[in-house]
Amino acid sequence: MSQQKFNQARFESALTRQWQYLGLSSSQQMTPHQWWQALSGALAELLAAQPAAKSPRPQRHVNYLSMEFLLGRLTGNNLLNLGWYDEVKAVLAQHQVDLSELLEEEVDPALGNGGLGRLAACYMDSMATVGQSATGHGLNYQYGLFRQSFQDGKQHEAPDDWQRDSYPWFRHNAAQDVSVGMGGSVEKTGDGRLLWKPAFTLRGEAWDLPVIGYRNGITLPLRLWKASHAHPFDLTLFNDGKFLQAEQQGIDAAKLTKVLYPNDNHQEGKRLRLMQQYFQCACAVADILRRHHQAGRKLEELPDYEVIQLNDTHPTIAIPEMLRLLLDEHQLGWDEAWRITSNVFAYTNHTLMPEALERWDERLMRALLPRHMLIIREINRRLKKIVEKRWPGNEAIWEKLAVVHDRQVRMANLCVVSGFAVNGVAALHSDLVVKDLFPEYHQLWPQKFHNVTNGITPRRWLKSCNPQLAALIDETLKVEWVNNLDALKGLEPYADDPAFRQRYRQIKQDNKVRLAAYIERLTGIKVSPDALFDVQIKRLHEYKRQHLSLLHILHCYRELRDHPNRADFVPRVFLFGAKAAPGYYLAKNIIYAINKVAEVVNNDPRTGDRLKVVFIPDYRITAAELMIPAADLSEQISTAGYEASGTGNMKLALNGALTIGTLDGANVEIAEQVGEENIFIFGNTVEQVKALKAGGYDPKKLRKKDKHLDGLLKELEKGKFSDGDKHAFDLMLDSLTKYGDYWLVLADFAEYIKAQARVEEMWRDQEAWTRAAILNTARTGMFSSDRSIRDYQKRIWQAKR
Ligand SMILES: *Cc1c(COP(=O)(O)O)cnc(C)c1O
Repeated sequence: MSQQKFNQARFESALTRQWQYLGLSSSQQMTPHQWWQALSGALAELLAAQPAAKSPRPQRHVNYLSMEFLLGRLTGNNLLNLGWYDEVKAVLAQHQVDLSELLEEEVDPALGNGGLGRLAACYMDSMATVGQSATGHGLNYQYGLFRQSFQDGKQHEAPDDWQRDSYPWFRHNAAQDVSVGMGGSVEKTGDGRLLWKPAFTLRGEAWDLPVIGYRNGITLPLRLWKASHAHPFDLTLFNDGKFLQAEQQGIDAAKLTKVLYPNDNHQEGKRLRLMQQYFQCACAVADILRRHHQAGRKLEELPDYEVIQLNDTHPTIAIPEMLRLLLDEHQLGWDEAWRITSNVFAYTNHTLMPEALERWDERLMRALLPRHMLIIREINRRLKKIVEKRWPGNEAIWEKLAVVHDRQVRMANLCVVSGFAVNGVAALHSDLVVKDLFPEYHQLWPQKFHNVTNGITPRRWLKSCNPQLAALIDETLKVEWVNNLDALKGLEPYADDPAFRQRYRQIKQDNKVRLAAYIERLTGIKVSPDALFDVQIKRLHEYKRQHLSLLHILHCYRELRDHPNRADFVPRVFLFGAKAAPGYYLAKNIIYAINKVAEVVNNDPRTGDRLKVVFIPDYRITAAELMIPAADLSEQISTAGYEASGTGNMKLALNGALTIGTLDGANVEIAEQVGEENIFIFGNTVEQVKALKAGGYDPKKLRKKDKHLDGLLKELEKGKFSDGDKHAFDLMLDSLTKYGDYWLVLADFAEYIKAQARVEEMWRDQEAWTRAAILNTARTGMFSSDRSIRDYQKRIWQAKR
């Protein structure tokens, strides 16, 4: 496949139509925001007019179902992937318009919470780039993840109105709209079949975003479904003059896709959330079956042509929905409907944490989806026979394996039982999926289980966010590496080249200067770009342990006060970016604690440029794109066994930040790749974590023994950082001591401080540090999401069945 040619005349006339639509009489009348809209609208129009590229070889079409797609800004990225950046920049310059300024006008489409949603976005980019025929299915939320600000150090949430209704990249593909029922009851037809009679019907509108492959002429649709009324009014009610009743039938459809639930790694068992899940699944499955039918193919061939990849259990109801359509609408028997369905679905597991494993109340499910609940019950009944045959009379095993248990539907079990593949997202995690989560399922169906280590797209996460480093790599390697990231290996010899080191270091420095300016503009805090930039950016969660880093800050602050004249003190800027779910009070308390400590540390004249702490508000893709290229140290310090993979770790390592981290998730594979001398590994391993928990770990005892740690905690308890308020951080502190320190923060503290000392030792030797940083860039090519997609192709999507 080859790159689409830029046609200047067509682009200019498309641009002209854009300001004409706006009712203006010349391009000069456009505001910068209108310019961004016109540019994006013109590009979208040119793309829509392109004939769709055929995939190079026959392959199953992948339907990637995800409740979240955390896209980030699209216009700059699309220009880069099209390869039209310079041409468009030149055309705009003729209008005295600066392209890079225009790109700043775009508000991030933040239709996701964190890693899971970003993964879906990286995978769409990579499927388009490697030429995998695919469609993304998600939801078109009117409000994405909330905007975060701080008020007196506390998180404040505001709605994220990203203006989807005038987002220029969207195309409403009205011919693809579908209708979706909910509620009601199940009736028996004359011939004894079951038929669902929904209480109300919604319209699912197909809103498409183009996902552009890297300079290969391929564009994939990301179809984000939006709920609207099936009919503006029920006309019979309307004619009777009962307007209000007409509006109140069923539900207010517009509410359904109004807002993204702001939870990460935590289930919220609300009715509206279940409605969102079903709505998305029903739209996607109807769309898939329609396309299959329109291609003139038979239902029984569906598994030869289609795969449905479930990004976590959020879209699991697509399974009973598929069965319902095959059984009730297409009148297949159970065995054939089951054969088809169970060869189409594949499931990606993202967590082992019980609070994140979805379970739905059976009563809620039955009230909303009565036919689906009957189907789930039937799956459960048939599963019971299999389990009974394998483990006769073993009640304990059945209790673990049941899909419906204790009046709850367990979505992960439903996925494993009904799908042909299950994968974890890093080698360690996939191992734990088999050993700790689904050992009996693995005994029944070992062939279903796989690993596909997550990845990140190097288009956004290196070429676009770190243009200087990308240019240095271009110049050094003289090959196209951005769709062949293993080529970065060619940089290894340059780690020993002093001139190359100097240029690599200067680029990092420039990126730090750029970030420092952003920080000052945003927060008023001045940070020195000569200090070590210590970066922890990710959702705020206890298992991610931002509070472990907080204890380290207290340790550094103590050091400065105890030894004010120490010459070898390594100056640090601690940078955080994180949103906490609005209902996660403990996480919000950690944010508050970090902000209050920052206030004291930053305003103490004794610290000066040697210690600064900045919590950058409203962490999102656009902030990540600024912070990652400027990071020296990447904090990946989750409790071992709890971070399924992480992808922030990959972005940072690729951009030359050294990792300090536990042996968790993909950190294990990063360490293997970069070599143990180029990473700072510390802390309890998965086995040690298990042993500690089994052996009655007592943080109070540990604290008594470790006077230094005790002293740091006391400073927080005495109100030293909270204007004398001794209870300001109770939620956080009680969890660490009184309530048993579930995440082993105190247990890993001493080792963490030692690892930080090793960091400082290397930092003092800037040549050694830069060498290690270059090796991190050179050796993290395998974390390209192109490699992940090829793994999915080989192991799951195109594997022999
Ligand atoms: C990559 C990314 C994440 C995931 O970060 P982890 O450290 O893997 O949890 C979350 N949010 C944003 C905005 C990201 O870009």
